[in-house]
Amino acid sequence: MGARSDEKDDSAPRDRSADGDGAGLIGTHRGDDPGPLLVCVGGVHGNEPAGVRALEGVLEELRGDDAPRVRGRLVALAGNLGALQASVRYRDRDLNRQWTTSRTDELQADAEVRPELGPEGVEQKRLLRSLEATLEEDRRGPAYLVDLHTTSSESPPFGIVGRREACRRFSSAFPFPHVRGLERHLPGMLADWACRRGFASLTAEAGQHEASDSVTRLRAVVWTALASAGLVEKDEPRVRDGRALLARASEGVPKHLEVRYRHGITPGNGFRMKPGWKNFDRVLEGDILAEDRTGEIPSPQSGLLFLPLYQKLGSDGFFLVRATQSEHRDDEE
Ligand SMILES: [Zn+2]
Repeated sequence: MGARSDEKDDSAPRDRSADGDGAGLIGTHRGDDPGPLLVCVGGVHGNEPAGVRALEGVLEELRGDDAPRVRGRLVALAGNLGALQASVRYRDRDLNRQWTTSRTDELQADAEVRPELGPEGVEQKRLLRSLEATLEEDRRGPAYLVDLHTTSSESPPFGIVGRREACRRFSSAFPFPHVRGLERHLPGMLADWACRRGFASLTAEAGQHEASDSVTRLRAVVWTALASAGLVEKDEPRVRDGRALLARASEGVPKHLEVRYRHGITPGNGFRMKPGWKNFDRVLEGDILAEDRTGEIPSPQSGLLFLPLYQKLGSDGFFLVRATQSEHRDDEE
């Protein structure tokens, strides 16, 4: 284990308060052998610190005496530093809706970090630089990215899976529900950009923001990602335990789901979910799900409720998803 001791500096948490070099780096762990690159991002939404906690925990475990042998490199990044500090989802704009090609091209065209970009523009530019620099350093092997989130309502863990085959292959090791088709309704998710940039990517949601289970589940997600990306062996006990935990926590929810409907909201229309509805609850057409200034909002179709909004910030009221039979629909769209 002697070889691992000199990695401690590399893995130590950095100052995350400044916008300078290394800002947003939670830590890295470079394995004993060359291999794949896994980037994990926590706190892209500032009111979701569980992802950051989980990454700190796994980096600590990887430094432990009973840590498994690692191939390749894990890089753990914190997303929206200012919003994390203020414990808000975002300050100006949702950082997980800004990763369209036109937006990232625009940010990359200008070398300066200008205050006119707004708080999230500055955050995105910094994160984009870190991601590009990480890719630049690790060009040799395959690259994977997991974006770690929690939800405003209580929820089993699940993954939002991109349409590329590489993303699906990477995601198939995660024994929780796989939701597809969200990118059609929500352009600009970080995992979508990562997918275009050559990462096999996944957005993982672990449960309610404040629940202590959420950190444990996101640690299980990171261990599963380490194995699925090939950094550690699949029979590593923490991978086996993590996968078992994710399977148990999502029992009863269909494994393959597709987004069928989005109820968008505009600021000031007084949208409020009716209390009691939870993520993946079964709904029938006509069930009253929410209300706004125009009155009650009935479900336009039957299915499972998805991502009901129980917080103030956000433009998505709720979604409806439906179970699909096949894992391989819309592959080559
Ligand atoms: Zn989130």
